[in-house]
Amino acid sequence: KLSLKVPNNELIINPKEIPSEWEKYAEAVQKIPKNIDLPMIIDGKKVYSTKKVKNLNPSNGEAIGTYQQADFSHAQQAIEAALKAKAHWAALSPSTRIQKFRDLETILLKWKYELCATSSVECGYNSFETYVEWAELLDFVRFNNYFYAELLAEQMGDGWGETNHLQLRPLKGFTCAVTPFNFPQAIGYNLPLVMALTGNTVVWKPSDDSVMSGYLLMLALDEAGFPPGVINMITGDGKPCLPTVLTHPELTAVNFTGSFATAKAFGNYLYNSEYPRKNFPRYVAETGGKDFLVADKDVDIIDTARCITQGAFGRSGQKCSANSVAIIDEHIWPDLREALIKETNSLNICNAVDKKCDVGPVINERQFDKISSFIERAKNDKNCKVIVGGNCDKKNGFYVSPTIIEVFTEKHELLSEEIFGPVIAIKTYKKFEDIVPIIELHNYRLTGSVISRNETFLEKAVPVLSQYAGNFYINRKTTGAIVNMQPFGGDGASGTNGKAGGKWYLLNFVSQGSITRRH
Ligand code: GLU
Repeated sequence: KLSLKVPNNELIINPKEIPSEWEKYAEAVQKIPKNIDLPMIIDGKKVYSTKKVKNLNPSNGEAIGTYQQADFSHAQQAIEAALKAKAHWAALSPSTRIQKFRDLETILLKWKYELCATSSVECGYNSFETYVEWAELLDFVRFNNYFYAELLAEQMGDGWGETNHLQLRPLKGFTCAVTPFNFPQAIGYNLPLVMALTGNTVVWKPSDDSVMSGYLLMLALDEAGFPPGVINMITGDGKPCLPTVLTHPELTAVNFTGSFATAKAFGNYLYNSEYPRKNFPRYVAETGGKDFLVADKDVDIIDTARCITQGAFGRSGQKCSANSVAIIDEHIWPDLREALIKETNSLNICNAVDKKCDVGPVINERQFDKISSFIERAKNDKNCKVIVGGNCDKKNGFYVSPTIIEVFTEKHELLSEEIFGPVIAIKTYKKFEDIVPIIELHNYRLTGSVISRNETFLEKAVPVLSQYAGNFYINRKTTGAIVNMQPFGGDGASGTNGKAGGKWYLLNFVSQGSITRRH
């Protein structure tokens, strides 16, 4: 059992500030294999497809290898492997599984530099961002063990001549996890791992932009002695392979983080009565956000500017929680505007593995084109004005400079569309009543924050604004939820609010049974 309730952040250090750490990180970057053909892992075995796809480094646009495009036959193989592994894995005692996850934790601790370097090279996150993610991954693994043990110890009431016992049974059949590129290891690993911890076996498809990270987890599971087939990794575009998984009669749960559109498409498969089912599949979907920050007139200008730039531009704005609308009291806007320009201009945009990198590239050309099209439209639109940034360059990597755009109209795509890049819209307000209509321009309900030194303002604002966010913050940025402190997720268009990083998240992946004995 963990004794701590708050993650011990001894793991979070900044390698840019510690020469010995930087050396080890830089060495691991050098050692990332070049031209590796990354296999899928099904039933513990390497599986190759005839169709290969190039794996690109977004910092320079160069190929770092290839991965496999799975088709329906690979999906079928992965399902069979998961079903075959199920009886043994589910029958193990929870403490045996917890021990396996402790062994995995030891390996993930040992592989720190490889994991961080891979996330930098494959996904374009700077060294510090990868360290923070790695620490979060370790928190997920540790705390999930702790949560599982706590839930298993839950006591039912006894009485009326009966004693009761609660069982947390693995779900029947097999489960599926589909994970995003933006936290390739924290979210990418946590989703299949939490399902496996609770006794399920999994077909896992990591994002096609983070297959090398995916492969590292499969190696770590093997090293930790996980039985083959507990987690099976298929790779590539989902269309040729995922329908086979999502329509299978033995599917019992899908754990997904990704776009709203994909979440909806999965829902169409899951709840379409055309497909014969043995169970009602559980569905946990964490999708997008259009996360807001409200700044009152009584704020510290520099601190507010930093909350906005860190929330908007960290990981190049590729977070569901990224701050993408700042709603600012018009009295402070002239000063805040200057502070934001200064903060933003101080950021270094370059190759993620460069020591001076603050903001790396965006993940791929498709995202680059999408983000830059928002910026191009804004440049030609008299209803808004780019006040800093706005440069997009894909000659050598996919770089979008951190961009702040002031919007002058009540309705605008920059106020309502998720961009998933380093772009934030600013909208000033005259009176408190102007704020909610701006938030209600969309139906995302993921994160939000309010900044004020005025308690009377907070007393009025917090009860109203917090209803628009699954994770709401007072006097801080919209990003950076911590395991067991701010379980993460929202409702509305942001998903099913499963709350990863919290104890009750695990209940999504078990079937509760009660055993009653009459005496
Ligand atoms: N949990 C992360 C945060 O609080 C965001 C995760 C995501 O982007 O999906 O910033």
